Amino acid sequence: MRAGADLVDRIDGFAPPELHDARRGLWRKLRHALRGVGCKDADDVVDMVLRAVVVAHLGEEARSRERRARRSDDWYWRAKVTVEEQVAKLREHPIVRAFPFHAVEYFEPDEVRCPHGRHRKKCEGIRRRLEDLMTLREPAPKMRVLVRRVAELRHELHSANVDADLRKPDEFCSPLPAARYKRWTVPIAARGGRPVDELRRYLMLTVIGRLTESGLSVEKSFEYLQSILAFCFGRQVDAATLERQWRRLPRGERLGVGPPRRPPGRT
Ligand SMILES: [Zn+2]
Repeated sequence: MRAGADLVDRIDGFAPPELHDARRGLWRKLRHALRGVGCKDADDVVDMVLRAVVVAHLGEEARSRERRARRSDDWYWRAKVTVEEQVAKLREHPIVRAFPFHAVEYFEPDEVRCPHGRHRKKCEGIRRRLEDLMTLREPAPKMRVLVRRVAELRHELHSANVDADLRKPDEFCSPLPAARYKRWTVPIAARGGRPVDELRRYLMLTVIGRLTESGLSVEKSFEYLQSILAFCFGRQVDAATLERQWRRLPRGERLGVGPPRRPPGRT
């Protein structure tokens, strides 16, 4: 198996799952395009691009973690780092075959507390238990397992200081509508402008250089970068904007990665 196959899988681990096929198509197309311009080591170039995508992701993840640790006075962000670490640990556990990392949905900071002054999740949980209890109360359950469940629900409500006989479900929060969530938020996604720039900058410096060096035109190279950002990171930036940003980078930096390169047809 080529080294690239592992990298392709790793990218699938953090990239938007819906774009799995689009990504496969992209890697194929890129390999084909490189061969089309006479590139002898198209496979190596594609592997290098895949590696750059993984590195860019790891960089973003680390930046995001550090940024949150810096704000460690904030309970929400501290808790989120903890949860993310637990999720990561679960995914790494030897008996876990697959863990849908991207399926973990977080409350926004301003949603964690509900209008009743509780943790929203706790409030929703009380409502759900009261609803379950109402459903199970009439007619009284004959099944022993359900009798036990009723006792358990009462106990749980009691532990939450809720009188199951007096309180009504609609005194508590109902779940937020699911539609609110973006279809594919990357869990450890960057917030704010700067980290995005870092990610783009890194990919521009590595990917663009290598692709133009291998014979692709500057224009085509930026089209591929546009697809990489969209398919692997869920970021929509058009190729022209990317190229403009790239040209604004200090010349020394543009040439600083890898051997010198001359984008064909330009400069
Ligand atoms: Zn509430």
